[in-house]
Amino acid sequence: MRWDNLSDHPAATTADAALFGADAVTTRTFDTPEFRGITFHEVRARSVLNRVPGASRMPFEWTVNPYRGCTHACVYCFARKTHSYLDLDTGLGFDSQIVVKVNAPELLRRQLASPRWQGAHVAMGTNVDCYQRAEGRYRLMPGIIAALRDHANPFSILTKGTLILRDLDLLLQAAEVTDVGISVSVGFTDQELWRTVEPGTPAPERRLDVVRTLTDHGIGCGVLMAPVIPFLGDHPDQLRATVRAVAASGATSVTPLVLHLRPGAREWFMAWLGRYHPHLTRRYERLYADGAYAPKWYQRRITRQVHELADEFGIGPARGGGSRRLAVPSRAPEPRPSDQGPTQLTLL
Ligand code: SF4
Repeated sequence: MRWDNLSDHPAATTADAALFGADAVTTRTFDTPEFRGITFHEVRARSVLNRVPGASRMPFEWTVNPYRGCTHACVYCFARKTHSYLDLDTGLGFDSQIVVKVNAPELLRRQLASPRWQGAHVAMGTNVDCYQRAEGRYRLMPGIIAALRDHANPFSILTKGTLILRDLDLLLQAAEVTDVGISVSVGFTDQELWRTVEPGTPAPERRLDVVRTLTDHGIGCGVLMAPVIPFLGDHPDQLRATVRAVAASGATSVTPLVLHLRPGAREWFMAWLGRYHPHLTRRYERLYADGAYAPKWYQRRITRQVHELADEFGIGPARGGGSRRLAVPSRAPEPRPSDQGPTQLTLL
């Protein structure tokens, strides 16, 4: 395993080499049902604020990611590729070999206090989910949010984890002094699809309960409707059911994002497709023939449908009038012409 390559961003691996030393790694397993089969690699990071390469394409420039790998185990997760930089497996290894930056809270507090830090927005949940199950044990996020609160530093969180509600009081405190944006990812409400394609995540309804709770407490919360999965989650009735449920949760916005299949995720997803929906394999090969993204006509169609449904169900800024702070700008980046190049937003 290559512990000198723990940067979140492939383009930054040279600059960030030696962020960790091999002597700083402790490997643990826990014999509880929740963590059976999971290996945790605890590391002491030397830096926790990551600058996003090519940030002009993204609505944020700085990220904090206390974990690598994700037990939520979404088949389509394109952060899978980042496990290969550690010489770890991007399939089951991504789901079960979790790197934990155990000193992330103290390190962030120190870095925020540096005279060189200008107080830029910090985005979390952009690589892997910071409220995945491991967070229940390691409890890194309370210290991270407290550090951001104490420095009145604006931040946003994108998550599928209901565990975020554990930190509701801290989020409310932070929202008193700075901009806090929360976005929850719910690509569909289809139960069967959820169980097979996002096997480690809380159910979509539970995630929408998070939206409702945050909104009820005055923290505006948007929904990133991601991914919309072609031929499995894109039927008009499915889109309608999802947007209706999103509206009922009180979300301030809904932003659709069609599945994309970059290297690392593509192989894993296509193997899954071959097992569960083999009749769709050829259709996928045609739809994604040009690379990681579905054709623009398809993306535009989904976006238009979702926006029309959002209008019909009354999702929009007017619904968020009671929010204390802004919802996270969860707008997805425009499709890139090639599969390469760093893009940090996962399909959380
Ligand atoms: S898509 Fe998000 S929640 Fe799912 S495995 Fe990837 S990082 Fe985790």
